[in-house]
Amino acid sequence: MGKKVIIWDSNKCKTCYACIRACDVKAIHVKPNSVFPYFEENLCVHCGHCIAACAYGAISCHDSKEEVKAMLNSGAKVAAICAPSIAGEFVDIADYRKFVKMIRYLGFYFVNEMGFGVDVIAAKYRELTAQNFNGKYFITSHCPAVVELVEKKYSDLVPNLVPLVSPAAATAVIIRKLHGRNVKVVHISPCIAAKNTINRYKGNAKIDAVLTFKELRELFDEFNIKEAYTQMSDFDAPIGYKGGLYAIAQGFVEATGLDSSLQNGNTTTVEGGANTLQAVAQFRDFPELIKTNFSLFYCEGCVSGPGMSDLKNKYLKHTFTKDYIKKRLANFEIDRWFSDVMNHSKHKELEVQYEAEPYVIEEPDEYSVSVALKKITIPKKGVELNCGACGYETCKGLAHAVAQGTAIPEMCIPNSQVGSREAVINMKRHNEELEKTESKLKQVEEQFNDADVARRSLKSAFSTFVRNLRTGVVITDADLKVLDSNQGFLDILGEDAIEIHEVVPFLVGASLKSLLPASLISQITYLLQHNDEKLSKDVEIHDRLINASMFPLIPNQIVCIILRNLHSSEERPEEIIDRITEVIEENLRQVQQIGFILGEGAAKTEKMMNTIIETYKK
Ligand code: SF4
Ligand code: SF4
Ligand code: SF4
Repeated sequence: MGKKVIIWDSNKCKTCYACIRACDVKAIHVKPNSVFPYFEENLCVHCGHCIAACAYGAISCHDSKEEVKAMLNSGAKVAAICAPSIAGEFVDIADYRKFVKMIRYLGFYFVNEMGFGVDVIAAKYRELTAQNFNGKYFITSHCPAVVELVEKKYSDLVPNLVPLVSPAAATAVIIRKLHGRNVKVVHISPCIAAKNTINRYKGNAKIDAVLTFKELRELFDEFNIKEAYTQMSDFDAPIGYKGGLYAIAQGFVEATGLDSSLQNGNTTTVEGGANTLQAVAQFRDFPELIKTNFSLFYCEGCVSGPGMSDLKNKYLKHTFTKDYIKKRLANFEIDRWFSDVMNHSKHKELEVQYEAEPYVIEEPDEYSVSVALKKITIPKKGVELNCGACGYETCKGLAHAVAQGTAIPEMCIPNSQVGSREAVINMKRHNEELEKTESKLKQVEEQFNDADVARRSLKSAFSTFVRNLRTGVVITDADLKVLDSNQGFLDILGEDAIEIHEVVPFLVGASLKSLLPASLISQITYLLQHNDEKLSKDVEIHDRLINASMFPLIPNQIVCIILRNLHSSEERPEEIIDRITEVIEENLRQVQQIGFILGEGAAKTEKMMNTIIETYKK
């Protein structure tokens, strides 16, 4: 029916299901393969209660401000019909005639009060239920949410709906009868369900747009319309009488003038979604016994309608409404009003036949319901708590919805609390395990740090050892890059190498290929690849016979080459080689016991090397 009234924003939704619990008609489903609410338009009565229930602002209603502004700018005469609960909304405005004028400032040509439309509908209701009573009881049709409820959920009761348009539509009929059928009509209301009546009523009864009070305030702000510099102006005729009390649920029966006493009254007033559902269900289930008409308000009176900017202080708003009516009726011309009601009650357009639009969904079989019930009750050890926290009256109710595919077992709050407890316990356990793991990791990290320190100590110790040897020593990696060397090595290589050493100390990083004869390089490469224990080769470097002894320090990775000038009397290679071999063997043992090498091993190695150095110096 026109634009979508209830708008849901998946980006804001936190799947808290508060909306589902607030929806008395159960129009918000959760499909089996989803966790998000799904708004079943064919069942929704557009009451807007889910909007107030959603703390995350994920649900809103269609905003009509733009279309109203367009209407006001179109050149057409636009009439505003103000719902009587406006007195409970603008408590900040001292005199109602101020907000009437403020509405005129927006560009409305007529500003009418819906109270007169209520009076006309009340008069016709009185006629229908009192004078023409023929054993048939009625459900009022003044609340659009109730009309939708009956049409969709209790469609067999559609013939019992009072066959009259809503009070707002009745006011529209009267305005158009007075001012012509081209007048556009905007209903200003606390009612979100009213937004879904656009296009429901035709011809003179048509409502062109519905502005909530919230939207009206926003328009005042947008156009900087303030009470302070606003003059007074009264509503356009015809003025309502007790119809102004319609904002309070009992006000409708009072406006009918019917006996409203418990003993003799023929109409029971019910307010609120859940109560309304119960009333309609009992009306259907006990047709012979119920013996009452129902005046139903899906909210707790329109003064609590979701289009109010503040839903608090319902009873204070009742007082404001009554005070407003008293003020308005101070110089009331009752005879004129009566004659106006009589005249306008005759309009044919006030009558309407509502149509059933039953929402049909397949009933689940018993087996599926019992399976669903098991899923719900197993975490509670089979107990059906029937706490209603899921939004369904009983666990079976939720199970029925689960089996029907309109709910999921996870909506059971006690289950999720049981689940939460388990989750909390599990989380604590995991946290503890995590802490233990963390502490182990710290230990490992410390060991690694120690190992790193040890490695660095070892490297530094080895470097000290190498540098203190007078024999030429060079250490190379698998890429034949110099890792370390000493003065003896530089002396063997000659002046060029010594000059480079000025810039690149001990030629670290230089390529051995450019420093040593190719025959020696091939031996080193062979050693790196084959991992032999030790190789020895005599080569000529700068016309001197040099003996090169080489052995792996780390198999396949690092090779140590000791170069001796065979003409030098200073060399005492046997002892050095023996000592270095001892170092290598020690290192190999350490490699096998990594933990050890990374700890005490470094200190031990350094000590041993110092001994070697001392021995060598002797
Ligand atoms: S109330 Fe509904 S729409 Fe809002 S966050 Fe919760 S589940 Fe989502
Ligand atoms: S508008 Fe009313 S009926 Fe529709 S989903 Fe929200 S609470 Fe339910
Ligand atoms: S009770 Fe009033 S505000 Fe609420 S849905 Fe009905 S008519 Fe609208």
